[in-house]
Amino acid sequence: MAVKDDLRTPIVCVMGHVDHGKTSLLDNIRGSAVVSGEAGAITQHIGATEVPIRSIVDKCGNPGLLDQFVVPGLLFIDTPGHHAFTTLRSRGGALADLAIVIVDINEGFKPQTIESLHILKQHKTPFVVVANKIDKIHGWNPQKDSPFMASYNKQSEHVRTSLDNKFYEVIGELYNHGFSSDRYDRVADFQHNIGVIPISAITGEGIPDLLMVLLGLAQRFLESNLHYDATGPGVGTVLEVKEERGLGTTIDLILYDGTLKKGDTIVVGSLDEPIQTKVRAVLKPRVLSEINVEDKFKQVSKVTAAIGVKISAPNLDGALSGGSVRVATPETLETVVEEVRSEVEAVQIDTDQSGITIKAD
Ligand code: GDP
Repeated sequence: MAVKDDLRTPIVCVMGHVDHGKTSLLDNIRGSAVVSGEAGAITQHIGATEVPIRSIVDKCGNPGLLDQFVVPGLLFIDTPGHHAFTTLRSRGGALADLAIVIVDINEGFKPQTIESLHILKQHKTPFVVVANKIDKIHGWNPQKDSPFMASYNKQSEHVRTSLDNKFYEVIGELYNHGFSSDRYDRVADFQHNIGVIPISAITGEGIPDLLMVLLGLAQRFLESNLHYDATGPGVGTVLEVKEERGLGTTIDLILYDGTLKKGDTIVVGSLDEPIQTKVRAVLKPRVLSEINVEDKFKQVSKVTAAIGVKISAPNLDGALSGGSVRVATPETLETVVEEVRSEVEAVQIDTDQSGITIKAD
């Protein structure tokens, strides 16, 4: 087996209660993003971070595993929280293909932990649970960036017992909410059992295991959803509408299918009529070595899914975050406008009828 060219990178969203470590986990995963540029290094996108497969197997200390995977890596949406999950949509439902629910192992479940689980169940999105902040367990001997078992085996018996007790409380709470789960290395069937991974977003312990389990989930349950046509028209979701000096109103978007080029005609979701405009520039962030250059962004001629990019184009003022962006040709323009209009309506109806109170987090 090897990475397949017609599979795009799965998109991952981090959810969980406030202060349980969503931002810290993303920061840890992004850690080496600024030194990107080397082959196989993590790349910073607009609004997302891409961790290529090679970097994941290297982190796990087992490059031989490379042959077992067909997906090219993982794309993490930089905005955490379930508000992001529910408002960011793709044609088939949630934009995220996979999710991580993070829970502070010392605090246990909180309202937003439970809400996250219900939202994922409703959307049938495969997810893992991470039990975070294991380094705060009294007496913990941190092992930076170590896989969980290697770190666990270096702890004293007393610390291991303490972790096991807290860990099984998390498993018990998941059970009380209708989810059968176990420690990830004991789960044989991820379709019926949720894998739970003990981690520290600060020391990086358990993060190699988390990335590996996510890849396994993507491969087992998503392969059929990840096929895409690199030569087809670009399709994406707006993350944010932003004013940028010298560029006017821009949109940050996650492109999840096809190709988007400078000069393309795009249709963008809006609360009024869908916006029809022409791409003036496709922009990516600059890497560290280019930081002295005055512009924050560099122009590229085209991008292919899955990727986070910024678009500059006229008339983007009314663009809707969570709305869709689609490339159109003169022949398809009318149909594409209709598609974008109905996608905006679907998001609104779904948000109204979900029955879930979304709190800001
Ligand atoms: P968010 O609200 O879910 O995004 O949580 P943050 O990532 O902002 O984390 C909240 C606080 O917990 C911050 O002070 C973090 O430094 C701290 N924190 C997060 N993860 C860990 C961890 O694994 N270990 C320790 N010791 N602190 C953590």
